[in-house]
Amino acid sequence: MIGRIHSVETFGTVDGPGIRFILFMQGCALKCQYCHNRDTWSLNDGKEMTIEEVLSEIESYLPYYRSSGGGLTVSGGEPTLQGPFVKELFRQVKERWDLHTTLDTNGVNEVTKLADLYDLTDLVLLDIKHINNEKHMSLTGVPNTRTLETARWLSDHGKKMWIRHVFVPTINDAEEDLLELGRFIGSLQGVEKVDILPYHQMGVYKWEHLGEKYPLEGVPSPTPEEVERAQRLIDQGRKEAVQNKQ
Ligand code: SF4
Repeated sequence: MIGRIHSVETFGTVDGPGIRFILFMQGCALKCQYCHNRDTWSLNDGKEMTIEEVLSEIESYLPYYRSSGGGLTVSGGEPTLQGPFVKELFRQVKERWDLHTTLDTNGVNEVTKLADLYDLTDLVLLDIKHINNEKHMSLTGVPNTRTLETARWLSDHGKKMWIRHVFVPTINDAEEDLLELGRFIGSLQGVEKVDILPYHQMGVYKWEHLGEKYPLEGVPSPTPEEVERAQRLIDQGRKEAVQNKQ
Protein backbone atom coordinates (compact mmCIF):
# COMPACT_ATOMS: atom_id res chain seq x y z
CA MET A 1 0.00 0.00 0.00
CA ILE A 2 1.29 3.46 -0.91
CA GLY A 3 0.74 6.80 0.80
CA ARG A 4 1.56 10.33 -0.28
CA ILE A 5 3.78 11.80 2.39
CA HIS A 6 4.67 15.46 2.89
CA SER A 7 7.46 14.94 5.43
CA VAL A 8 8.50 13.12 8.59
CA GLU A 9 9.83 14.23 11.95
CA THR A 10 11.65 11.66 14.06
CA PHE A 11 11.72 13.42 17.45
CA GLY A 12 8.36 15.13 17.88
CA THR A 13 7.53 16.15 21.44
CA VAL A 14 4.27 18.13 21.21
CA ASP A 15 1.91 16.04 19.08
CA GLY A 16 1.00 13.44 21.69
CA PRO A 17 2.74 11.99 24.77
CA GLY A 18 6.47 11.21 24.93
CA ILE A 19 8.86 11.28 21.98
CA ARG A 20 7.12 10.51 18.71
CA PHE A 21 7.61 9.75 15.06
CA ILE A 22 5.41 12.26 13.21
CA LEU A 23 4.23 11.41 9.74
CA PHE A 24 2.83 14.40 7.86
CA MET A 25 0.48 13.20 5.14
CA GLN A 26 0.01 15.15 1.93
CA GLY A 27 -3.42 16.57 1.05
CA CYS A 28 -6.04 18.73 2.74
CA ALA A 29 -9.52 19.77 1.58
CA LEU A 30 -9.77 22.78 3.89
CA LYS A 31 -8.45 26.23 3.14
CA CYS A 32 -7.63 27.63 6.56
CA GLN A 33 -6.62 31.27 6.22
CA TYR A 34 -3.84 30.79 8.76
CA CYS A 35 -2.56 27.48 7.39
CA HIS A 36 1.15 27.22 8.14
CA ASN A 37 1.43 24.14 5.94
CA ARG A 38 0.04 25.58 2.70
CA ASP A 39 2.29 23.22 0.75
CA THR A 40 0.39 20.16 2.09
CA TRP A 41 -2.91 20.98 0.37
CA SER A 42 -2.44 19.26 -3.00
CA LEU A 43 -3.01 15.51 -3.01
CA ASN A 44 -0.66 15.20 -5.97
CA ASP A 45 2.48 16.55 -4.30
CA GLY A 46 4.69 14.98 -1.66
CA LYS A 47 6.49 11.71 -2.11
CA GLU A 48 5.14 8.20 -2.35
CA MET A 49 6.08 5.80 0.44
CA THR A 50 5.04 2.23 1.14
CA ILE A 51 3.93 1.07 4.59
CA GLU A 52 7.12 -0.98 4.76
CA GLU A 53 9.29 2.11 4.11
CA VAL A 54 7.54 4.08 6.85
CA LEU A 55 7.87 1.15 9.28
CA SER A 56 11.58 0.82 8.63
CA GLU A 57 12.10 4.55 9.39
CA ILE A 58 10.14 4.19 12.63
CA GLU A 59 12.10 1.09 13.61
CA SER A 60 15.42 2.99 13.64
CA TYR A 61 14.23 5.14 16.55
CA LEU A 62 11.94 2.66 18.30
CA PRO A 63 13.86 2.57 21.63
CA TYR A 64 13.31 6.35 22.07
CA TYR A 65 9.58 6.09 21.44
CA ARG A 66 9.20 3.12 23.75
CA SER A 67 11.30 4.39 26.67
CA SER A 68 9.61 7.83 26.66
CA GLY A 69 6.03 6.53 26.51
CA GLY A 70 5.77 7.98 23.01
CA GLY A 71 4.79 6.43 19.70
CA LEU A 72 3.54 7.33 16.24
CA THR A 73 1.52 10.42 15.33
CA VAL A 74 0.01 10.82 11.89
CA SER A 75 -0.71 14.43 10.98
CA GLY A 76 -0.93 16.49 7.80
CA GLY A 77 -2.42 17.99 5.77
CA GLU A 78 -5.43 15.94 6.72
CA PRO A 79 -4.50 12.29 7.34
CA THR A 80 -8.03 10.88 7.04
CA LEU A 81 -7.98 11.74 3.31
CA GLN A 82 -5.66 8.73 3.09
CA GLY A 83 -7.60 6.77 5.72
CA PRO A 84 -6.93 3.22 4.42
CA PHE A 85 -3.15 3.84 4.40
CA VAL A 86 -3.16 5.27 7.93
CA LYS A 87 -5.37 2.46 9.18
CA GLU A 88 -3.02 -0.19 7.80
CA LEU A 89 0.00 1.63 9.22
CA PHE A 90 -1.61 1.82 12.67
CA ARG A 91 -2.60 -1.85 12.46
CA GLN A 92 0.98 -2.85 11.70
CA VAL A 93 2.70 -0.72 14.37
CA LYS A 94 0.31 -2.19 16.91
CA GLU A 95 0.81 -5.76 15.71
CA ARG A 96 4.63 -5.49 15.53
CA TRP A 97 5.48 -3.24 18.44
CA ASP A 98 2.24 -2.44 20.30
CA LEU A 99 3.09 1.22 19.71
CA HIS A 100 0.89 4.11 20.90
CA THR A 101 -0.95 5.74 17.98
CA THR A 102 -2.17 9.34 17.65
CA LEU A 103 -4.19 10.89 14.85
CA ASP A 104 -4.05 14.66 14.34
CA THR A 105 -7.21 15.59 12.41
CA ASN A 106 -9.57 18.45 11.57
CA GLY A 107 -12.45 15.96 11.97
CA VAL A 108 -14.14 17.04 8.76
CA ASN A 109 -14.33 13.63 7.11
CA GLU A 110 -17.40 11.61 8.07
CA VAL A 111 -16.58 9.94 11.36
CA THR A 112 -18.82 6.88 10.93
CA LYS A 113 -16.85 5.93 7.79
CA LEU A 114 -13.61 6.12 9.79
CA ALA A 115 -14.69 3.97 12.74
CA ASP A 116 -12.10 1.24 11.90
CA LEU A 117 -9.31 3.82 11.87
CA TYR A 118 -10.42 5.35 15.17
CA ASP A 119 -10.55 1.86 16.68
CA LEU A 120 -6.80 1.62 16.08
CA THR A 121 -6.15 5.15 17.40
CA ASP A 122 -5.17 5.59 21.06
CA LEU A 123 -5.41 9.38 21.07
CA VAL A 124 -7.07 11.89 18.74
CA LEU A 125 -5.76 15.44 18.44
CA LEU A 126 -8.93 17.17 17.23
CA ASP A 127 -8.64 20.67 15.80
CA ILE A 128 -11.72 22.79 16.40
CA LYS A 129 -11.01 25.89 14.38
CA HIS A 130 -14.10 27.93 15.19
CA ILE A 131 -17.19 27.11 17.25
CA ASN A 132 -19.33 29.54 15.25
CA ASN A 133 -20.39 27.83 12.04
CA GLU A 134 -20.50 30.94 9.83
CA LYS A 135 -17.12 32.14 11.03
CA HIS A 136 -15.76 28.60 10.57
CA MET A 137 -16.94 28.76 6.96
CA SER A 138 -15.12 32.00 6.28
CA LEU A 139 -11.99 30.80 8.08
CA THR A 140 -11.74 27.36 6.46
CA GLY A 141 -14.18 27.20 3.53
CA VAL A 142 -16.30 24.44 5.14
CA PRO A 143 -18.88 24.23 7.96
CA ASN A 144 -17.86 22.97 11.40
CA THR A 145 -20.75 20.48 11.58
CA ARG A 146 -18.70 17.37 10.78
CA THR A 147 -15.91 18.35 13.19
CA LEU A 148 -18.40 18.73 16.02
CA GLU A 149 -20.03 15.42 15.05
CA THR A 150 -16.61 13.77 15.18
CA ALA A 151 -16.02 15.18 18.67
CA ARG A 152 -19.40 13.90 19.84
CA TRP A 153 -18.82 10.47 18.31
CA LEU A 154 -15.38 10.16 19.91
CA SER A 155 -16.88 11.19 23.23
CA ASP A 156 -19.73 8.66 22.91
CA HIS A 157 -17.29 5.88 21.97
CA GLY A 158 -14.94 6.32 24.92
CA LYS A 159 -12.02 7.76 22.91
CA LYS A 160 -9.31 9.96 24.34
CA MET A 161 -8.94 13.43 22.86
CA TRP A 162 -6.77 16.50 23.03
CA ILE A 163 -8.73 19.45 21.65
CA ARG A 164 -6.63 21.98 19.74
CA HIS A 165 -7.64 25.51 18.95
CA VAL A 166 -5.45 27.88 16.96
CA PHE A 167 -6.19 31.21 18.60
CA VAL A 168 -6.16 34.19 16.24
CA PRO A 169 -6.82 37.80 17.27
CA THR A 170 -9.80 39.31 15.37
CA ILE A 171 -10.78 35.87 13.98
CA ASN A 172 -11.80 33.71 16.94
CA ASP A 173 -11.25 35.93 19.97
CA ALA A 174 -14.88 37.02 20.65
CA GLU A 175 -15.89 36.39 24.26
CA GLU A 176 -19.10 34.55 23.36
CA ASP A 177 -17.29 32.24 20.91
CA LEU A 178 -14.64 31.28 23.46
CA LEU A 179 -17.29 30.65 26.13
CA GLU A 180 -19.32 28.60 23.66
CA LEU A 181 -16.26 26.59 22.66
CA GLY A 182 -15.65 25.89 26.34
CA ARG A 183 -19.27 24.83 26.84
CA PHE A 184 -19.03 22.44 23.91
CA ILE A 185 -15.77 20.94 25.19
CA GLY A 186 -17.28 20.68 28.67
CA SER A 187 -20.12 18.59 27.26
CA LEU A 188 -17.66 15.95 25.98
CA GLN A 189 -16.18 12.91 27.71
CA GLY A 190 -12.58 11.81 27.19
CA VAL A 191 -10.97 15.25 26.76
CA GLU A 192 -7.57 14.95 28.42
CA LYS A 193 -6.21 18.32 27.39
CA VAL A 194 -7.19 21.56 25.66
CA ASP A 195 -4.32 23.15 23.74
CA ILE A 196 -4.67 26.79 22.79
CA LEU A 197 -2.15 27.30 20.02
CA PRO A 198 -1.24 30.98 19.59
CA TYR A 199 -1.42 31.98 15.93
CA HIS A 200 1.96 32.65 14.29
CA GLN A 201 3.13 33.73 10.85
CA MET A 202 5.92 31.17 10.38
CA GLY A 203 4.25 29.55 7.37
CA VAL A 204 3.67 32.76 5.39
CA TYR A 205 6.70 32.13 3.18
CA LYS A 206 5.02 28.94 1.88
CA TRP A 207 2.09 30.98 0.51
CA GLU A 208 4.52 33.45 -1.04
CA HIS A 209 6.53 30.61 -2.54
CA LEU A 210 3.36 29.38 -4.26
CA GLY A 211 2.70 32.91 -5.56
CA GLU A 212 -0.39 33.34 -3.38
CA LYS A 213 -1.51 36.24 -1.26
CA TYR A 214 -1.52 35.42 2.46
CA PRO A 215 -5.13 35.93 3.65
CA LEU A 216 -4.31 37.08 7.20
CA GLU A 217 -1.69 39.65 6.29
CA GLY A 218 -1.42 42.21 9.09
CA VAL A 219 -3.13 40.04 11.73
CA PRO A 220 -0.78 39.94 14.74
CA SER A 221 0.07 36.98 16.95
CA PRO A 222 -1.76 37.14 20.30
CA THR A 223 -0.01 38.54 23.35
CA PRO A 224 0.45 36.24 26.39
CA GLU A 225 -2.35 38.22 28.11
CA GLU A 226 -4.71 37.54 25.20
CA VAL A 227 -3.90 33.82 25.32
CA GLU A 228 -4.52 33.82 29.08
CA ARG A 229 -7.89 35.50 28.55
CA ALA A 230 -8.85 32.90 25.92
CA GLN A 231 -7.84 30.11 28.29
CA ARG A 232 -9.87 31.67 31.10
CA LEU A 233 -13.01 32.04 28.95
CA ILE A 234 -12.75 28.47 27.62
CA ASP A 235 -12.28 27.16 31.18
CA GLN A 236 -15.30 29.18 32.32
CA GLY A 237 -17.42 27.70 29.51
CA ARG A 238 -16.28 24.20 30.45
CA LYS A 239 -17.23 24.75 34.08
CA GLU A 240 -20.67 26.05 33.08
CA ALA A 241 -21.28 22.93 30.97
CA VAL A 242 -20.24 20.65 33.82
CA GLN A 243 -22.47 22.53 36.31
CA ASN A 244 -25.41 22.32 33.90
CA LYS A 245 -25.01 18.55 33.72
CA GLN A 246 -25.18 18.19 37.52
S1 SF4 B 1 -6.74 21.70 8.22
FE1 SF4 B 1 -4.57 22.02 8.71
S2 SF4 B 1 -3.47 21.57 6.81
FE2 SF4 B 1 -5.63 21.81 6.28
S3 SF4 B 1 -5.80 23.94 5.63
FE3 SF4 B 1 -6.34 23.84 7.81
S4 SF4 B 1 -4.42 24.26 8.91
FE4 SF4 B 1 -3.89 23.74 6.78
